[in-house]
Amino acid sequence: MTEILHIVGGGMAGSEAAWQAAEMGVQVVIHEMRPKVGTFAHQTGNLGEMVCSNSFRSDDDEQNAVGLLHWEMRAAGGLIMACADQHRLPAGGALAVDRDPFAETVTTRLLAHPNISVSYEEINELPETGQWIFATGPLTSPALGAAIRAQTGAEALAFFDAIAPIVYAESINMDKAWMQSRYDKGDTEEERTAYLNCPMDRDQYEAFIDALLAADKTEFHEGETANYFDGCLPIEVMAERGRETLRHGPMKPVGLTNPHQPDVKAHAVVQLRRDNALGTLFNIVGFQTKMKYGAQTDVFRMIPGLENASFARLGGIHRNTFINSPTLLDDRMRLRSRPNIRFAGQITGVEGYVESAAMGLLAGRLAAADILGHALPTAPQDSAMGALIHHITGGAEVKTFQPMNVNFGLFRPVEGLKGGRRGRKDRYKAYTDRAKAAWQGWLEQCALDAA
Ligand SMILES: Cc1cc2nc3c(=O)[nH]c(=O)nc-3n(C[C@H](O)[C@H](O)[C@H](O)COP(=O)(O)OP(=O)(O)OC[C@H]3O[C@@H](n4cnc5c(N)ncnc54)[C@H](O)[C@@H]3O)c2cc1C
Repeated sequence: MTEILHIVGGGMAGSEAAWQAAEMGVQVVIHEMRPKVGTFAHQTGNLGEMVCSNSFRSDDDEQNAVGLLHWEMRAAGGLIMACADQHRLPAGGALAVDRDPFAETVTTRLLAHPNISVSYEEINELPETGQWIFATGPLTSPALGAAIRAQTGAEALAFFDAIAPIVYAESINMDKAWMQSRYDKGDTEEERTAYLNCPMDRDQYEAFIDALLAADKTEFHEGETANYFDGCLPIEVMAERGRETLRHGPMKPVGLTNPHQPDVKAHAVVQLRRDNALGTLFNIVGFQTKMKYGAQTDVFRMIPGLENASFARLGGIHRNTFINSPTLLDDRMRLRSRPNIRFAGQITGVEGYVESAAMGLLAGRLAAADILGHALPTAPQDSAMGALIHHITGGAEVKTFQPMNVNFGLFRPVEGLKGGRRGRKDRYKAYTDRAKAAWQGWLEQCALDAA
């Protein structure tokens, strides 16, 4: 009799983790607090409930990183994708899902699996013994949040995200922008040129403030706002406090000289900072926002140098419990300080139904492999699954770590392909071809281990 795998949380990640481990022959207990204990967003006691939109986003596995993740999960026999496909609704190139039958099917299939049982209870500690996966999501119960905080330290667990938009480096116009740290601070050339700067004159700044104030904003969900104002004010709220506030905050122009116009003092400067070790992504410093997505692209493209910016992700502020995975987790998703505990899903710092389910799939397989004594390595870096896990457990900047969607900026470049917008189609196809081959190889290794 092998060791039991305990999974806390039966959402997107926990459901997928349970399915994968059970299919590998491991006995699984899912501990789910609903319907006994609710959250402000969940409506039912079903496993795999979609809390808001009913979309799994793009289903294009050749040109889109989310579509590629769909493909990889289907190839791995994923439960969430199988149920989504069964309850698919017409939505063009997107995968939209009939949410209630979807969650009912997820629940029924998990309950019917001979290796899975469900215990409807809240878990509010990190047990010392046994194999555990915590997949309690953005709305992890307060008692468990406190237990995680006690184990990881207050700095390593956040209750809100404050996501600044992230731009693909290749889409930034370097004829207008330049690399320089404020006051050229830093011991190495790399540190002295760590920031990417976009200058504004007075008219551009005033127009930018007008656009910020006029932009459509999203509202917080009911019950979402408690304590959020601690240190993460949206830029539009800063602008509402005074037209000069941003110029004295994240857009201050001091300590910087524009090499394109050395004699002209910028009225304001927008700074971007590297967001990943690969240097393919830059976040706009201090630009967390509640503007609607359409408004964000319009407003941020007013910034000189970002006229043609492509965004890997747009900004947001949400109630969201997540750990600082780059410092806390190893590449097999185990808590470094307590290897019997794994984390999966949105709490690891990925964002979205698909990414959360994907991290559940990986955690379930890795936990089951450990229990069964298989030597399964973590997902290959060139797969979408591997690009994500590599980002959250190593590639991301630790100090500014915020939740991440899957996107091609997380992938290692394919050598010899044309950069820029023109080469994009070929590049994305090369990424997805390479990813599929890498993922197939990993799945074959899983199968060999099991034989
Ligand atoms: C208000 C809101 C709106 C969102 N809208 C979208 C959207 O439109 N699209 C999108 O892709 N993503 C959205 N998200 C993010 C979404 O929640 C995640 O993408 C996805 O559901 C995360 O999957 P998960 O398995 O990590 O967490 P969940 O799906 O939330 O599952 C976690 C489970 O753990 C349970 N749980 C929590 N604490 C305990 C405990 N102590 N003991 C036992 N069980 C526990 C919960 O009841 C829940 O069932 C939204 C999130 C929120 C909060």
